[in-house]
Amino acid sequence: MAQFKNYIGGKWQDARSGQEFDRRNPATGEVIGTYTRSDARDVDDAVAAAAKAFQSWRLYPAPKRGEILYRVGQLLMERKQQLAREMTEEMGKVLTEAGGDVQEGIDMAFYMAGEGRRQWGQTVPAESPNKWAMSVRKPLGVVAAITPWNFPMAIPTWKIMPALVTGNTVVFKPASYTSRMAVRLVEVFEEAGLPAGVLNLVLGSGQDVGDAIVKHPDVALISFTGSTETGTAVNVEAARRLKRVSLELGGKNAIIVMEDADINNAVDGILWSAFGTSGQRCTAASRVIAHRQISDELTSRLAERAGGMRLGSGLDATTDVGPVVSQSQLERVHAYIAVGKNEGAELAVGGEIATQGELARGHFHQPTVFGNVRADMRIAQEEIFGPVTAVIPVSDMDEAVAVANNVQYGLSAAIYTRDVNRAFRAMQDIYTGILYVNAGTIGAEIQLPFGGTKATGNGHREAGQAALDVVTEWQSIYVDYSGRLQRAQID
Ligand code: NAD
Repeated sequence: MAQFKNYIGGKWQDARSGQEFDRRNPATGEVIGTYTRSDARDVDDAVAAAAKAFQSWRLYPAPKRGEILYRVGQLLMERKQQLAREMTEEMGKVLTEAGGDVQEGIDMAFYMAGEGRRQWGQTVPAESPNKWAMSVRKPLGVVAAITPWNFPMAIPTWKIMPALVTGNTVVFKPASYTSRMAVRLVEVFEEAGLPAGVLNLVLGSGQDVGDAIVKHPDVALISFTGSTETGTAVNVEAARRLKRVSLELGGKNAIIVMEDADINNAVDGILWSAFGTSGQRCTAASRVIAHRQISDELTSRLAERAGGMRLGSGLDATTDVGPVVSQSQLERVHAYIAVGKNEGAELAVGGEIATQGELARGHFHQPTVFGNVRADMRIAQEEIFGPVTAVIPVSDMDEAVAVANNVQYGLSAAIYTRDVNRAFRAMQDIYTGILYVNAGTIGAEIQLPFGGTKATGNGHREAGQAALDVVTEWQSIYVDYSGRLQRAQID
């Protein structure tokens, strides 16, 4: 049986508790391995190692930090197929999507490696003669990366790489479901030559490990991705200690389809956005806001295509939709079917837990489409995080925009239309962190900011240049070479 350990101060080691937990393949029920079960004592060790390493890593030239990230990107490229396979086994998404997840890590490695030679500050004129004024980015110190299971490679790399290239050290706490992927990622950093203590891995539960990290006085930043409920609790704890927190939380993303849209293109985009990763993406399209003139046709075309999707192990090339991550998640998703029916939504296709043949060994839910959904129903308001989407008919563009905005979240949205005026209306009036025109709600690229408004977060963004703002703070520097007292605002 494979065993996976913590990585602290450059050493792979068991948790102090001596206890373990295991993880099963969500498609087959086979055990993947056992993982060491950490607690606050291991967090103390990891933070101490990171704090010690920070003293030298912050002075390590940034271009050299970038060179390590280039090597990380190279190794991830070489291992992409193997990592994707292991990801599919551990959390269920189909192999091509797992490859895309690894690719996001590769893209981020090369992008952030380049930041080793950029990290621009500002040089501005000073108001006095013989005086120099500029600003530089400074690392924060020990950064915590707390991550969910649905993007086991992309999300950790999005947090760890900007932090490292700017001179921070990291304590990484992955979701327990995807601990093996976290170990694989840290192995790559080790092989790429990252000095001991700069990146530390602590495996275990949110309650035992995550909470101890959030409360630790020597952790300067909590970079958290997960549910809005947990993120809110993290934010409250961190606020008591005046810590910086970056939150990437839930979504209830909508695709608007106007009556002038290319319906074939819209159907493809909706299926990919609603059922990719079994709907377990923060950017999943769990609402389709359709103009009344085409909503019945759209619903029946979605139902026909969704009904033909093949469920199965993500390793099988013929599988369209893999399992959801766990039995508890399966039950949670399925409970929403009854909620939708009781509220009067029309079940157009799906709605059942899939148990035929081999599927009985895993956690499979049929791709599900509800039609004639009202915007105030729970299935149109709450994040389901499974393969379920709801078609909401509307009468015009004004109503479409109002419905799109009328949820607590604000991560991603999309509009299908051939009318350029409507496209620009959507860009102007939809209040989300990400907006697509004539594409689904998923498919973010790493060179632009990623994140959302309202209950999706607390105003920060990952990826792109925006990622640097989370992991650094500005130092403004004035150098006076006049040899005398010069009083700003007075002389
Ligand atoms: P979760 O909130 O249950 O867990 C996220 C992480 O927090 C895990 O590592 C968990 O162990 C840890 N955690 C749990 N309790 C904690 C505590 N008290 N203190 C500190 N850490 C704690 O989320 P999940 O089920 O793993 O992921 C699904 C959620 O993540 C969905 O809501 C989804 O929308 C969201 N998500 C958001 C984005 C985004 O960028 N906006 C991306 C992916 C997923």
